[in-house]
Amino acid sequence: MIKIKTREEIEIMRESALIVSKTLGMLAKEVKPGVTTLYLDKLAEEFIRAHGAVPGFLGLYDFPNTLCMSPNSQVVHGFPTKEPLKEGDIISIDCGALKNGFYGDHAYTFAVGEIDEATKNLLDVTLESLYVGIREFKAGNRVGDVGFAIQNFTEKHGYGVVRELVGHGLGRKMHEDPEMPNYGRRGRGKKFAEGMVVAIEPMTNMGTHKIRQHADGWTITTLDNKPSAHFEHDVAIVNGKPELLSTFKYINEALGIVTDVENEFRQEII
Ligand code: MG
Ligand code: MG
Repeated sequence: MIKIKTREEIEIMRESALIVSKTLGMLAKEVKPGVTTLYLDKLAEEFIRAHGAVPGFLGLYDFPNTLCMSPNSQVVHGFPTKEPLKEGDIISIDCGALKNGFYGDHAYTFAVGEIDEATKNLLDVTLESLYVGIREFKAGNRVGDVGFAIQNFTEKHGYGVVRELVGHGLGRKMHEDPEMPNYGRRGRGKKFAEGMVVAIEPMTNMGTHKIRQHADGWTITTLDNKPSAHFEHDVAIVNGKPELLSTFKYINEALGIVTDVENEFRQEII
């Protein structure tokens, strides 16, 4: 069942979304060659707790850490490790936080130092596909409209859209209805309405869309071991239109990115 949020609840959720946004912004300055993902995980946990929230993933379905850390060919749900990041790696960081009874859930794929052009393009296209999907998250549209838009855009660039993992409704639970696949057919699925809040999160592979699950029960890797990217925003429907609750603003400030697709999106929607 889809849980519609009141304006007040959406404002509370904005706070949770802001905490995860600031956490990733803080981490943006720390992601560099030689740093371990376990160290970044500790930084994130301290940061989230210092902001009066608790890590959203820690203990959820028995996940043992604050962040999901998925380097290179890992798609999502990787564990932080003592393995240092290397120049040319990419690292997908997924961050959850719980405050005032509501979750924030947010992800970004970072370049570690300089990365090759092909991987840079994968990151750019996946980031853009997120906003392509968010534009379709409006009252009267359906789940399939978001999925279709992301899939169509992604496949035009020759990339694979992961099928087994999807976005989701967000609220007092990390995973609420509806499921939000990054593939689909126009006009199909549940209808969007005022007050819905979802996490939209394309997971895009450079090669095949197929994945494999590791024996640890968590880590998921592309079947062809090519890189995979992941970006995620929390979005509410307010006045019939998509409104971003999370923001990559803090990451952009940390990395010195002046204009990007999020700014364009915000200008267009207002
Ligand atoms: Mg997430
Ligand atoms: Mg999510």
